[in-house]
Amino acid sequence: MYMGLLSGKVALVTGGSRGIGRGIALELAKAGCSVIINYRKDKSGAEETLDILNKIGGYAKAFKADVRSYLESKNMIEEIIKEFGKIDILVNNAGVSKVGLFIDAKEEDWDEIINTNLKGVFNCCHSVVPHMLSKGVGSIINISSMWGNVGASCEVIYSASKGGINSFTKALAKELGPSNIRVNAISPGVINTDMNSWLSEEDVNELQQEIPLCKFGECEDIGNTVVFLASDNSKYITGQIITVDGGMV
Ligand code: NAP
Repeated sequence: MYMGLLSGKVALVTGGSRGIGRGIALELAKAGCSVIINYRKDKSGAEETLDILNKIGGYAKAFKADVRSYLESKNMIEEIIKEFGKIDILVNNAGVSKVGLFIDAKEEDWDEIINTNLKGVFNCCHSVVPHMLSKGVGSIINISSMWGNVGASCEVIYSASKGGINSFTKALAKELGPSNIRVNAISPGVINTDMNSWLSEEDVNELQQEIPLCKFGECEDIGNTVVFLASDNSKYITGQIITVDGGMV
């Protein structure tokens, strides 16, 4: 359906070694994009993603970098620019979650979740935006969460990190709109990935009953939304938080 929609474009997807990041990379590659995936430690997962992309004929490469580090993020982006000449599409997907009562949370939990989910978005945007400004075009897509919209019990820090992404997205969109750079976010609901592998069968059944579409989302549901937001099909959309949650919130 999307074949050729993003031909000639270069995309960076952070956290592409599995899950939603892999699904996004796959849909971008199907749309004709050259895709660079980032990962922090899961080298074999990153290689598996590359294999999948290569099999469908896409051009793909993997870069190891910890998005919590400003320097590592900057170096990765400079290397990509040196090799590919540009980054048209930045997808800030890398993220971590931790479920538990707020009173049991540790200061280290705050640092880990905020530094990955929110500072990681700042780090990558801050290094990519100057290049997009010099090209006069770009699309940034931040992967938030429905919990960033409405807040979740037992995921207070995670919700704060994603709420921060939502405000960051709206503000940056206003600042970069006049420069033809669009900034949007996607708020997924419950998507079938390792992040939810801790749920018991009973939890899964209960959760599915709360979803109007009666099932969890798949990674390709997020990938398809990214392709839309990256392409000219959404050329008048910026500063939006698109919720993809089967109607849950
Ligand atoms: P996942 O399966 O746990 O994958 C997380 C990805 O992020 C991995 O590729 C991991 O790479 C990478 N990552 C983590 N910390 C990193 C760091 N410091 N630097 C670079 N990469 C890092 O998670 P997922 O379910 O696909 O979630 C992806 C995104 O969607 C997250 O932002 C998450 O908050 C959001 N989301 C997920 C759901 C859901 O139901 N699954 C719902 C709403 C929002 P390594 O393993 O190499 O570290």
